[in-house]
Parts: sequence; C-alpha cells; structure tokens
Amino acid sequence: MTEKNTEKIDILSLSLSELEDNIILMGEKKFRAKQIWQWLHVKKVKNFDKMSNLSAQFRGKLSDVFCIKSLIISKRLASDIDNTVKYLYELPDGNHIETVMMEYNHGYSLCVSTQVGCKMGCQFCASTIAGYKRDLSPSEILLQLYETERDSDKKVSSIVLMGIGEPLDNYKNVVRFLDILSDKDGYNMSLRHVSLSTCGIVPRIYDLADKNYGLTLSVSLHATTNAKRSEIMPVNNKYNINELMTACRYYFNKTKRRISFEYALIDGVNDSKEQAVQLSKLLHKTQSHVNIIPVNKIKERKFTSNRKSAVKFRDMLIDLGVNATVRRTLGTDIDAACGQLRREYEI
Ligand code: SAH
Repeated sequence: MTEKNTEKIDILSLSLSELEDNIILMGEKKFRAKQIWQWLHVKKVKNFDKMSNLSAQFRGKLSDVFCIKSLIISKRLASDIDNTVKYLYELPDGNHIETVMMEYNHGYSLCVSTQVGCKMGCQFCASTIAGYKRDLSPSEILLQLYETERDSDKKVSSIVLMGIGEPLDNYKNVVRFLDILSDKDGYNMSLRHVSLSTCGIVPRIYDLADKNYGLTLSVSLHATTNAKRSEIMPVNNKYNINELMTACRYYFNKTKRRISFEYALIDGVNDSKEQAVQLSKLLHKTQSHVNIIPVNKIKERKFTSNRKSAVKFRDMLIDLGVNATVRRTLGTDIDAACGQLRREYEI
C-alpha cells in the first residue's frame, strides 16, 4: 500500500450507511453508495476504474478520497493429509497474519485472524508467544475472506473467528466486520454460519448477547477450577469461571443459541476423571456442547495429548450426561491447527 493510500478513507471498513453519508457529503446521490457497495462486496473489484456504472469523473473523485485495501499472499501452504490450506497474508503496513481454509462435507470453512498477535497469554497457544502488535481493521478481517476466495476460486460457506487474536478484545472492529459481512446488499453471509471464539472477555459477552446476531459463541474453557484455569489462561485472573459461566447463561437466555465450550485436552493437566465430573457440574444448568481438542504441539511448549485420551475424556463426559465431541484436527502438518497460528513467521 502506498503512503498516499494510508491517508485516504479505508472504504472496505465502512458500513453501508457510513458510505452513504460520505457520498452525500461529496455532493452525489445516495443511491450511488449502494452501487459502489455492490462493486466492493459482491463483485469485489480492487479498483475504482472497474465501477463501470459510475462516471469517469466520479470514479476519479472516489479514488482521491478513498482507498480499496488489499492483502498480499506471502506464503500459501497446502496440507498433504487433508485439503487444508494456510495463507500467510501481508497487511498494508507490512505486518503478517495467518488465515486457514478448511474443507468439510458441507463446504469450505475459513478461520480468520482478528489481531496481529495476541495479548491473552494462554500457555498452550502459539498466537500469543510473540505478543500483541495491533488490532485488525474491519477491512483486514473481511479481506481474508475476499482474498482467499479469489485465490482458491472457491466459495466459503462458514467463517470461524478462531485465528490469531482475541475477537472480543477487538470488539468494535469485529462487530463492524460482522455487520458488513451479513449486509443483504453486500456479501450477505448469514451470521448463523459464523462462530466466534473467546477466551472469556466477560463484559463483551454481554454486549454480544445484546446484539442477538445468531452466531455461535465458542468459549475456550480448558479447565474446571479457577486455580488451574488461571495457571494456563491468565485472563481467568480478570474474569473467573463463575463470572464467565454467568455471562454464558445470559448469552443463552438472550439468544437461545447453544454455547460451544472448547476444551483443549492436555496430558496430566486437565484430563482426569475428577475434572470431567467438575466440568459436568459447571455445565449442568447450561445448554451447551463441549468440543474436546487434543492439544496441538507448539515448539515452545511441552504440552501433549492424543486422540485416544480425547476419546476417553469424551466418553467420561457423555457418561456424565454432557454433550461432547472430539474435534477433528486439520492441517497439523502445516501448523494450521488450533493454537498453531502465529505472528512471527519465517518466510
Ligand atoms: N482468542 C480466542 C480465539 C482463538 S480460537 C480464544 O481464545 O478462544 C483458537 C482455539 O484454539 C481456542 O479455543 C484456543 O484456546 C485453542 N487453542 C489454543 N492453543 C491450542 C493448542 N495448542 N491446541 C489446541 N487448541 C488450542
């Protein structure tokens, strides 16, 4: 991105009504904004010159005021064991993020990042190791979808906000991304096809519940007592399990959407029978589902697990009346699985 562009308004981060306001301020008719919107979010042009139903003079004015950002593919890694593809994207300011395209029976799912790095410090996660750099703008979250669809020539049918970063720590931009993504005159993805994963930023769970978006909330629980959870997830020192579960119940009561609890199983840390019993007690008043993920290896940590232990833990939970499954792990050979994405990457 040129220096000139950084002074211009990032048009892909605007909502339709904001774009309308800008267009009216430029002395143009309001309906022009919807035409531009469709060029941006349906036809996904990268240049104002392509907007053929606008006059050349107006297109010139638009490119003086706005910029259409884009991402550069620095690296594309395809898994040999499944059809997972991991993209390393360079952002307009030179920072990097990762995005993962996964194939399921029902179509393609895209795992997007929401921040450059992460400040949450979860012990088992690679995304936090190099620390936090900055939030992604709405356009930078959205462009992971547009660029990946363009490159792969495939249509994405669902999005998971489970890449690098804590989505609820970038709440404002994530909400705007969701509004742009689901706009009926734009990309028009139903938010029923979106999952948002959080380590448990309690006040923002209430805010999100009040939005009643219809998305699936995934909560990274990973431990059943405050002592254990605080040990592996520092966020628990700020918002403890009790506060988190109260917020989750509020979310369910408000949205009637069942919550998905993620549980990264770690040998000798959170895999005992006692912990399965504690988990069943924690969840007994909650409409929920537990997703067990055998912890994925990251080179800086010694945590281990395997599918067999995960199946054993799942069966203990099922016996206790908890709705639980083991999550399929995709893209481990390209470090594309849960918790393996990172900011610092050797190109
Ligand atoms: N910050 C959000 C989004 C990350 S989503 C969150 O914490 O939920 C990625 C999911 O993978 C989270 O549930 C995260 O806790 C989990 N995860 C992180 N590291 C992992 C690892 N090494 N193995 C398995 N799951 C991991």
